[in-house]
Amino acid sequence: MRAPLEIGFDYTRSLGPTLSQFMTALAGRRILGSRAADGRVHAPPFEYDPVTFAPPGQLVDVGPAGTVVSWSWAPQPLEGQPLAHPFAWALIRLDGADTAMLHAVDAGSAAAMQTGMRVRVRWAASLVGDIRDIACFEPGDGPGQPGLETTGPETTGPETTMITTPVRLHYEHTASLGESSYLRALQDGRLLGQRCPVCGKVYIPPRGACPTDGVPTTDEVELPDIGTVTTFCVVNVPYPGQRVTPPYVTAAVLLDGADIAFQHLILGCEPGEVRMGMRVRAVWKPRDEWGTTPENIDHFRPSGEPDAPYESYARQL
Ligand SMILES: [Zn+2]
Repeated sequence: MRAPLEIGFDYTRSLGPTLSQFMTALAGRRILGSRAADGRVHAPPFEYDPVTFAPPGQLVDVGPAGTVVSWSWAPQPLEGQPLAHPFAWALIRLDGADTAMLHAVDAGSAAAMQTGMRVRVRWAASLVGDIRDIACFEPGDGPGQPGLETTGPETTGPETTMITTPVRLHYEHTASLGESSYLRALQDGRLLGQRCPVCGKVYIPPRGACPTDGVPTTDEVELPDIGTVTTFCVVNVPYPGQRVTPPYVTAAVLLDGADIAFQHLILGCEPGEVRMGMRVRAVWKPRDEWGTTPENIDHFRPSGEPDAPYESYARQL
């Protein structure tokens, strides 16, 4: 079994005083570097001097042209990269700087790329004080393409203090044999684990091998959809895409007969009522929504049974 998976989130952080200046200056078509105690100019600027560890003093202008120090051709650009057509990733030492910065060079073909070649900035069509204000570099010398309206170096726009970095990972996941039978069983509403032939431990989801004994786990074991909360946390932090409104509980649920807990939502009671040892039962989605996915189980809810004694799950903590 295989399926495409996508992991993505937007990473937002504050820039701090030095990188705020660097980003803000880009909106005015200026690239700033910082001078270290040994006299070397770093571009992009360092936040702390690599020699003295002190914050940089006054930042200095570098570029907008520079020299390619090293490069690598990107024949198939990925989504979100600076250019949609083939380009070079290059280390570019901007004029006035002693260090190189990584950026894209729009050279047309790999044959047009050369270490030591001169390149210059191609500014983005609209400048907002973001690293993407540098659209890419292009072969040539001098100030780069003229004629775009900008705020100009003398005008200061709003200071950039935060940056949002989208992080995306697309990949094709191939399920192992054990995982495949686990997923296929879920389509029938069954929970299938595997038992180690040496230590007898039951793993769900199955991992294909026992991490303790290193032997294949080929015995399949069907487990009930009822278990015990071993540990839990109350989620109070909202985040984009959250499907349950905080506060709510995610817990490590140890199914009866399993030797490893897995994490799931606990709903159907107040967050404050959830406790270690609480007995919970799976709440399945409507049968016509079942697929070969763990999401067939929507959440767990209290089963109403007496709490499990501590000794029954102490070894799982
Ligand atoms: Zn084992």
